[in-house]
This record gives sequence, C-alpha cells and structure tokens, in this order.
Amino acid sequence: MERQSVSPETLAAQGLGEVDPVSGGLAPVINLSTNYEQQPDGSYPQGRVYTRADNPTSEHAEQLLAELEGGGGCALFGSGMAAATAVFQSLLPGDHVLVSRVLYWGVRKWLAEFALTWGLDVEFTDTSDLDVVAAAIRPSRTRLLWVEAPANPMWEITDLAAVCQVAHAAGARVAVDNTVATPVLTRPFEHGADLVVHSATKYLNGHGDVLAGAVLAARRDPLWERIRSWRRNAGAMPGPFEAWLLQRGMRTLFLRVRRASETALAIATRFDGHPALSAVLYPGLPGHPGHQIAVRQMHGGFGGMLSIRLAGGAGHARAVLREVRVFKRATSLGGVESLIEHRRSSEGPSSPVPDDLLRLSIGIEAPGDLIADLEVALDAAYRSPATVPPEPAATRETGR
Ligand code: PLP
Repeated sequence: MERQSVSPETLAAQGLGEVDPVSGGLAPVINLSTNYEQQPDGSYPQGRVYTRADNPTSEHAEQLLAELEGGGGCALFGSGMAAATAVFQSLLPGDHVLVSRVLYWGVRKWLAEFALTWGLDVEFTDTSDLDVVAAAIRPSRTRLLWVEAPANPMWEITDLAAVCQVAHAAGARVAVDNTVATPVLTRPFEHGADLVVHSATKYLNGHGDVLAGAVLAARRDPLWERIRSWRRNAGAMPGPFEAWLLQRGMRTLFLRVRRASETALAIATRFDGHPALSAVLYPGLPGHPGHQIAVRQMHGGFGGMLSIRLAGGAGHARAVLREVRVFKRATSLGGVESLIEHRRSSEGPSSPVPDDLLRLSIGIEAPGDLIADLEVALDAAYRSPATVPPEPAATRETGR
C-alpha cells in the first residue's frame, strides 16, 4: 500500500497495511530476539546488532506512530517518563528550559528533583499567555520550550503555532507532550513543533495494559541522534510484547478518541452550571479561556479529559468518589473505561492541584450510563453535608 495515498486513519486501522512476508499473516509477528547474526565479513545485513538499540517489532510501531504524527523519526521508550526525561537529558548543562506551569505532575516533579544536578536551568511559566512566553525566552540561552496541550489537570490550552513562532525566533526548540490530544485531534508538527512526546500508556495503547512512551522528531538532526543514543545507552527500550500491544492498540485509536471526545463534550455540557459544581474545566466549553485556540488547534473534538471542581469543597469531592458506580476510581487516563480520581491525593503532598478537583478520563461506555452515574453522585454530594472524612494525608509521592 502506498502510504502517502491513504489517510492516517486507514494506516492506523491496517497497522501500515503490511503483511508478514513468511506466513502471509495480517497481524505482525512478535520478534523476541535480543541479538542478530553477524556475517563472516563482520556485517549485519539488516543493520541490527542488539535489541537495546533496535528491534523490528518496536520499529513497526514506531513507523506507524511516525505516520500518524507526521514526524521524521520516532523512538519508543519503556514509559512516558522515560521518553520525557530522555529529551531533557539530551540537553547540556547550563541550557535554559522553559516549561508549562500546568503540566503532568510527574514531569514537573522529576525536573524539580533532577534538573539541578543535571545543570539545567528550568523555569516554569504560563505558556497559555504568549506575552509571558515572549518575555521569559532568553535569546540564544533558551534551548527548549516544553508544553502540554491540553495541560493536566486544568486542561489549559497553549497556542502551539504562536509559541513555536516565538521560540524559533529566539533559536529555541519546542517539545509538545501530545498524550492527551493524540494525533487524532492535534498534530503538533503541523504547528511548528520540533519534538512530540507521548505517554503511549494512555490513548495510543488505550486498554490500560501497556506501559510505554515515545519521542518523535520533525527532523533527524543532532538532538534527535542524542535522544536515540540516550535510549540505547540507558536501556530505555520497551519490550517487544509491549511494542506489539501498542501497534494493536493504535489500530482503534481514531474510533476510541473520537468516541471519548464526543462523550466528554456531552458530559461537560450537561454538568456545566450544576449547583454542586463551581467549575467544569474542559476546552470544548465556549466559556473555557482556551476555547477559541482549541477550536483552531484541535480537529474533530476536544479530547476525553475533563475536571470538575466541587462547590462544597474537598469533602464533597470525596463524597462523589464514594457514590460513583460506573466510573472506576483509579488514576491514569486514555483507556476504554472511564476513570475518576481526586487528583491532589494521587499527586501527593507537593501537588498544586485544588483539593476540590476531580479528574475524569472518559472512556467508550454508553454516554447515558456515565451521565446518570455522575448525576446521582453529584446530587448525593450536593444534598449531604460534607461528612466524608478527609483521606489521610498522602505520605508518599506517587506521580501517576
Ligand atoms: N505525560 C502525560 C501527559 C501523562 O499523563 C503521563 C502519565 O500519566 C506521562 C507523561 C508519563 O507517562 P508514563 O506513566 O507512561 O510514564
């Protein structure tokens, strides 16, 4: 199949449309070999030596994701955190890095703990405000701007095209964590991004049974080579079975993301203004501060993630958690089942997330079941005084 002649949706559904050359099978085989045969002349005809560097099963998933994102290169990692930290560890001591103030908590915590020892000069800034970004960029000192859009767990929107323009004018690169939007809704390279990062654990796999990550690059330049070299040297590759499950998950990515986005919009619209809530945070709502940018930047939906803030505070948030029957009380996101969590408790004592916030990851269940479940839980919380005892303070950082 000519890859250029069909849409990413078709490439995803058919896993690039390749057929196993030995068996004729439509499902790819899993290549478990850790090493590859050297020829008597010392050469490796397939260019592979050892699986910490290269593996055909990973390469297949990488090629598929590169097609979906429109990237020039893709490297899978053993987790989203392994992917994100490989990007920062490919920078040099003394480099200035600008990072979204609102972002996945695990990345912020890792930066706070390790950036100093690595010698990176990390500055957190409000990337949803272009003037703030322009003022924070230090020409020829800032090497990287790191953004998430929509950003966890407030779902703020950064204008990717605008920040890429500002960053590039000052000689800085832009990396976008596209875990939440996925290439179904936003393709950051089309807005000028230099790197795209994923927790493939989430929507790309989509079934809550794989831990994996990915870094994609617009071009195969020296920074890209340093990221690949980091992965090889640090041994940050996923196993072949994870890579295989990931390509299988990506085959239904478009269906799952569109369904989750439709249902999330229905839920956000239904509960916006509910007396038990002080806010519904979702970029698809016209009142969301980033809505107009999201309309330009996200195609075919606003994603499956939203947060709700309880007018009655943390006690009411916990009452809702106690009452739900269809939503699963669990951390993480992007799977087929809908999840609800008290985000601040998941993040631990240093979390900046308001205590009254519940984060919802919408799955692919019947929308009416999810709406009815929340309706009952919110009504129960609204009617009852905040009698639910506070959870014992988190004693350890979890960073999920
Ligand atoms: N980026 C985002 C937006 C995430 O939500 C997460 C995990 O929740 C990560 C990165 C880290 O990914 P992983 O858990 O696969 O290491």
